Amino acid sequence: MSTDDSHVQHTWNLTRAADGDEIHIELWTDGYSVRVDGGDGEDSEGGKTAVDELIAKYEAAGYRQTRDYPVNDPQPAIDADAAEESTEPDGKPDACPECGSPVEFEPRYVTDVREGDAWLCTGCRWGRFVTA
Ligand SMILES: [Zn+2]
Repeated sequence: MSTDDSHVQHTWNLTRAADGDEIHIELWTDGYSVRVDGGDGEDSEGGKTAVDELIAKYEAAGYRQTRDYPVNDPQPAIDADAAEESTEPDGKPDACPECGSPVEFEPRYVTDVREGDAWLCTGCRWGRFVTA
């Protein structure tokens, strides 16, 4: 076993309580190579989808996921959410001036006359285009 894990993107550990058997699954940084240590020892080139299938298979066989951790994850999943949040501009109205319902951000809202980012009432559908 090499201790160099620069080729590994993420690893998952599973154990079976009945006999303490352990399985170690690695997803490599190429995004598709999957190496399985233990279990059926069945490697795959199916990427994260294959990992999910392997975990589901072994969980059905009595194993439990004990830990999973990123080794060289290019992008933690949490970044996607943060990017999404930041697309909402400042100046969101506290409530709809017509009916007082909460207002939500609607990117690329389309009406008969124009298209653009807008604030939309969740109640009466009052709307106002975001002005920069
Ligand atoms: Zn309203």
